[in-house]
Amino acid sequence: MADSHATPDVCDVLIAGSGAGGFAAALTAHLQGLDVIMVEKEPLFGGTTAYSSGILWIPANSHQRAAGISDSREAALTYLTHHVGNRLDHASAEAFLDNGPAMVDLFEREGLVSFSSGLTFPDYHPDEPGASQGGRALFVDDFDGRALGPWFDKLRPPIKTMTALGGMMVGRNDLPHVFQMTRSWNSAFHMGRMVARYARDRLRYRRGTRLVNGNALIASMAASTFKRGIPLWLNSPIVELAHETDRITGAIVEQEGQRLRIKTRRGVVLACGGFPANDELKGRVYQHIAAGKSHVSLPPPGNSGDGLRLAQSVGGTFHDELHHPAAWAPASLVPQADGSVIPYPHFFERGKPGYISVDRRGRRFVNEAKSYHAFVPPMIEACRGDNDVEAWIVCDHRAIRRFGLGALGPAPMRVRPFLRSSYVKRSDTVAGLADACGIDAAGLEHTIEKFNTSARHGEDPEFQRGSDAYQRFSGAADHKPNPCVGPLDQPPFYAVRIIPSELGTYAGIRTNAHAQVIDGAGQPIAGLYAVGNDAASVMGGTYPGPGTSIGPAMTFGYIAARHMARGSA
Ligand SMILES: Cc1cc2nc3c(=O)[nH]c(=O)nc-3n(C[C@H](O)[C@H](O)[C@H](O)COP(=O)(O)OP(=O)(O)OC[C@H]3O[C@@H](n4cnc5c(N)ncnc54)[C@H](O)[C@@H]3O)c2cc1C
Repeated sequence: MADSHATPDVCDVLIAGSGAGGFAAALTAHLQGLDVIMVEKEPLFGGTTAYSSGILWIPANSHQRAAGISDSREAALTYLTHHVGNRLDHASAEAFLDNGPAMVDLFEREGLVSFSSGLTFPDYHPDEPGASQGGRALFVDDFDGRALGPWFDKLRPPIKTMTALGGMMVGRNDLPHVFQMTRSWNSAFHMGRMVARYARDRLRYRRGTRLVNGNALIASMAASTFKRGIPLWLNSPIVELAHETDRITGAIVEQEGQRLRIKTRRGVVLACGGFPANDELKGRVYQHIAAGKSHVSLPPPGNSGDGLRLAQSVGGTFHDELHHPAAWAPASLVPQADGSVIPYPHFFERGKPGYISVDRRGRRFVNEAKSYHAFVPPMIEACRGDNDVEAWIVCDHRAIRRFGLGALGPAPMRVRPFLRSSYVKRSDTVAGLADACGIDAAGLEHTIEKFNTSARHGEDPEFQRGSDAYQRFSGAADHKPNPCVGPLDQPPFYAVRIIPSELGTYAGIRTNAHAQVIDGAGQPIAGLYAVGNDAASVMGGTYPGPGTSIGPAMTFGYIAARHMARGSA
């Protein structure tokens, strides 16, 4: 395995970080004939990308064209201009839209990754000008982990709470089967086949070899990286940048206590995944943390802001004048046998029929079917005067058996272990459930009674749940008349506590349209690039659609590599 290596002390391009941004930059640079070294701080490669759903938002991509869906760069720019407003950096947004489709085509043509299109997956604000009703989201195809050979063990596994049976990956295309497995023979057969393969895998491997989502994206790019002989050094953080008067000329990489000086002919790419693991920085830019309230971070521990620190050490600047400093998601904390907790991001059940979310007064505070990012700010606002920011997702028995509740999947998954660990609370009455959670009982009873009255007709006069295509896409297609709204009227009732979390940071290093790090005077620092979450969000700190982090991360990796290949830095 190429982890042990004869250390070259010079290369064209040195890349810090093995997530979406890092791999995309490495593979593009290699295809441009450049000599590349990738270094990764952690003992595992893949970063947050390996945890992710692996979706890329790429407007006007060739999969849309092939499916006859009309889209254009102009429509996407209209959408971003409207949605992001005056925080949109037009030059960078246009560079993203110009290069995204070409990046995807190149990666597919070269056999680096293969995608299929989420043809019916709308943008998150589908009624805004220029929004798409489907097709901008690209899903990575499944990947067989065995193709990684000995590197398979070094791939960061998915977040445990998001797998089934202690490690079986469940992909986007599996989800409809998960929700239908007790209602359709076809879905039961699909799930049976998945479980059988997982069981076979576990006889030989420490985990399942059928990789989906972000694990498939990283494994696929990693397999191509290794096949092309690009070295990836694990446990090897960049700790310092080297510069001569007017440009970055390399970096110091720490390895087994040694400091290795690597010279670069073209550039260093910072793809260290932002600062979600840096408590001090988060405390400065996340207002609820500054106010001493709860938060849990989903990304892995290596993403501690190294890229930002390195960029600042040579004149780079921090950009946090954005709509939001991070991509938010509500998360619950799943107790583990050893006493620890692992977060679970609530992507799926919130906006389905039979669920509501309430604060400690028992009041709803948001349209639960909106995106996870749009869910968290109203939750923080609802708890502004409280000691903590916390809410509960509440549902009835029919809903929990059909769609699950957080880490507790739908039937036939057993509820009892989750009750025993206190992850899920249950009661035969609404008032009893409120007491078990510490929610105001009269408030919750009133909310559910009021919600049910309209929900029986598929209506939600308070928040208009189900009022746009994205919400309906996330609902239950077979639930009539409104796929997002149904009453909570079949006891027992259940609840899980949620707090704010982030999928990754948005605030970051100020860059230009070539992904170059720029200094306080707005001038590029020659030989230094930042991509992925190290760079400030090209979406201006908003979440316009599925894949709006990884799409730009890979596109700017591609842009940086091509810029270096042209020798423009
Ligand atoms: C559960 C979940 C689901 C998500 N789903 C999606 C999705 O479907 N689509 C989407 O767009 N976004 C999604 N996101 C967000 C997305 O995963 C991240 O924004 C994105 O993967 C970040 O990519 P990156 O390349 O910037 O960093 P990462 O993938 O986090 O990689 C950064 C790497 O750099 C390493 N590193 C840090 N410091 C150094 C150093 N000094 N030297 C060398 N290496 C270093 C880190 O250890 C890490 O491995 C999701 C996030 C989560 C948690």
